[in-house]
Amino acid sequence: MRTAFVNGRVFVGNGKVLEHATVLVEDDKIVSISDSFSGLDKDTRKVPIEGATLFPGFIDCHVHLVMSGSPDPIGALANESALITTIKAVENARKTLEAGITTVRDLGGKNGIDLELKQAIESGLIKGPRILAAGRLICMTGGHGWPIGREADGPDDVRRAAREQIKAGADIVKFMATGGVLTAAVEPGSAQLTYEEMKAGIEEAHKAGKRTATHAMGSQGILDALHAGIDSIEHGIYLTDEIISFMKKNSVFFVPTISAMYHIGKMGIAAGIPAWAVEKNNIVAPHHKESVKKAHGAGVTIAMGTDAGTPFNYHGKNLMEIPLLVKHGLSPMEALIAATSTASRVLGLENSIGTIEPGKIADLVLVKNNPMENIDILNGNDAIARVMKSGQFIEDK
Ligand SMILES: [Zn+2]
Repeated sequence: MRTAFVNGRVFVGNGKVLEHATVLVEDDKIVSISDSFSGLDKDTRKVPIEGATLFPGFIDCHVHLVMSGSPDPIGALANESALITTIKAVENARKTLEAGITTVRDLGGKNGIDLELKQAIESGLIKGPRILAAGRLICMTGGHGWPIGREADGPDDVRRAAREQIKAGADIVKFMATGGVLTAAVEPGSAQLTYEEMKAGIEEAHKAGKRTATHAMGSQGILDALHAGIDSIEHGIYLTDEIISFMKKNSVFFVPTISAMYHIGKMGIAAGIPAWAVEKNNIVAPHHKESVKKAHGAGVTIAMGTDAGTPFNYHGKNLMEIPLLVKHGLSPMEALIAATSTASRVLGLENSIGTIEPGKIADLVLVKNNPMENIDILNGNDAIARVMKSGQFIEDK
């Protein structure tokens, strides 16, 4: 099967934009990009790009498919059967793909649902994005996320917890370095898993060839995770100069997940979000804003992640993070790269996805108009015209 996206604007993902390009796809791969569309045979399906922009499939580096954006998602999970959670997760995956997100990194599931969802999508049973999944997040006893996490105490136990996730099929291991907003009675600024604990867990993940990510808000926890060898910092509320220079020097990715704080701040207690969560969010939000601006100014590599599934942060609205990144100092081009090629590097998949180049997997998204000229169109419900994953349009059988 050959498909050609014909004669239009192509956002390559590496900083280049072509204005009159034709992208040819054969089976699941991109085979060529050229400025001519004359040699296409009649069996090639032709999709005009005119009036739109062709992007590499977008990548969200931080989602929770088992959470559905309810006001208290962790509380909701505790009161819900695994079956209902699974049904919702299937829907969340479908909405994510329909919104042009062809790959996600799921940073915390429950009951192995994220790992099974990945298998169901890979086998063609259901439609959804390509998933890299963490299984259960690893936290200290009573630490942030404990209702869905694997509580572990001491280096040996954290090492064992990491081994358990890898045994269950995790692609990535997630550690909780600090408190957070959405668990009652933990403080975002306080350190949680220790340096020694994370060092043991990260060592175990790296031995198995898996990358690591950490929920990290307070400065001490972030530093502990960095010194322990973490690969990406999620949220990063209180970034100091020391943290920023360490991240830059050691090429540690920063996934700020601005959407998470944005929706909690916007909707508030009136929408049913627990008061303790809104209060904590109000405290951290201004610091977060400063940290993102500072990190970007200093040249830390920022990738797109939404924390989709947190309150009112719905799956399928993932691209709202891109205009938020622009509000925090990134140029539209930088924010779009954060959601494509940079995100592919966070996942270690830069050789197969993230840019429109011959030999890469044909994950392609046709966005109406030109987001580089008006980034806010990505906030709309109808920004996406067509979505292709692995050479198949999502409406293909
Ligand atoms: Zn998260």
